[in-house]
Order: sequence, then C-alpha cells, then structure tokens
Amino acid sequence: MTDKNEKHKKSMEKQKEKVDSRIEEASIEKGVVILLTGNGKGKSSSAFGMVLRAMGYGHKIGVVQFIKGAQLSGEEIFIRDLVTQNKYPEITFYQMGTGFTWNTQDRTSDIEAAERTWAEVVPLLQDESYDLVVLDELTYMIAYKYLDEQMILDAIANRPPNQSVIVTGRGGGSALQELADTVSEVKDIKHAFKAGVKARQGVDY
Ligand code: ATP
Ligand code: MG
Repeated sequence: MTDKNEKHKKSMEKQKEKVDSRIEEASIEKGVVILLTGNGKGKSSSAFGMVLRAMGYGHKIGVVQFIKGAQLSGEEIFIRDLVTQNKYPEITFYQMGTGFTWNTQDRTSDIEAAERTWAEVVPLLQDESYDLVVLDELTYMIAYKYLDEQMILDAIANRPPNQSVIVTGRGGGSALQELADTVSEVKDIKHAFKAGVKARQGVDY
C-alpha cells in the first residue's frame, strides 16, 4: 500500500472511532427544536426536506407558513394536493395568506394576520400526535414584534417531549437560538438573483 493510502486509512479509522464514541454517548431520546437562519438560500427548502424525510416514516406533520402567499410554491402545491386527494392524511398545512404586507403599510392588519396564524400553531404544539411542526418564516413575526416573543418561546418549550419543531427565517433573536437544540446559519456567499437571474420554478419557489 502506498504511503498516501496508509495515511488515509489511519485518519479514517481515527474519524470512525470519534464518531462511534459520540454515537454511543448520545443517549437522550427527545424531539428537537431546529432553527434554520442566515441570509443565504436554503432555509425553507431544508425544512421541507425534513418534511419529506418524516413523511417517509408516516409521521404526523404540521406546516404553518408565516408568509403572505402571493407567490405559489412547489411545496404548497404538493402539500395541498396531498391533503385534497387524501394521499397523506397525516399532514396539516396552513399559510398566513392575505392580510399580510411586507412593507408594513398596514401594521394592524399584519398583526391580525399573524395572530390568526399563530392560533393555528398553538393546537399543533399541544398535540403529542404531531411528530414534526414546521414554522416557516416565523422569525419575522418576532423581529417585527407582530407576535410576543415570550409567548412563542413558551409554546415551543412546553410542546410534547417527543415533538420536533423547525423554525426558519433570518434573524430570530438570541432567546430562540438559546431554546433551539440545533441552530444552522445558511451563509450567503453568492446568489444567482444578484447576477440578474430570475427566480426559478422548482428551485426558488
Ligand atoms: P429557500 O426557500 O429557497 O430554501 P430560504 O428559505 O433560505 O430559501 P428566504 O429568505 O425565505 O430564503 O427567501 C425565499 C426566496 O428568496 C427563495 O426564492 C430564495 O431563492 C430567495 N433567496 C434566498 N436567499 C437569497 C439571497 N441571499 N439573495 C437573493 N435571493 C435569495
Ligand atoms: Mg424561507
């Protein structure tokens, strides 16, 4: 065996030892809170990747999107189709929809829409039959102070122990980061949009 191969083998063995011991050390069984944040692309699509993963096991899933819903997305089309065709009965989907404007011209109606949407989240976070709850773009509700931060933190913290929650969106604040078990920041290195490339169906929405 060449020197290079021998070195590689040794380093892989070491790596395996490390991973194996960490796997052995992990002994806690519980649902997790995952925060996907940062300015780069890939937060919501990662969350929907986990939805797909959970669906593979027939898990019960709740998806609530804190977006105005002007732009239809592939995931919305897909999930709505699952629901109406009764192809996957274990999924609940809600989108904030109309009444919300990003340019906060009508703060009162924005807050109403946010509160209406939060009212859909509460029963999910109290129902242990839900394995996974996705709160897409929730961070903006905290950033804009449309919803009370402590109310959100308490509801997530007091969820059933085996339920996992995924929160997506830029920012979100340190308290949410602290509560989360896993926090990933998607860093924007470059984005096609900035080079003038139009958002792509099936890729961006
Ligand atoms: P995705 O839904 O593609 O995973 P995301 O959830 O990380 O993206 P959002 O901030 O929710 O990002 O924005 C959603 C839309 O904005 C998508 O069409 C995405 O491609 C686009 N987008 C995300 N990040 C950037 C960026 N850094 N510059 C320009 N457009 C972006
Ligand atoms: Mg997103």
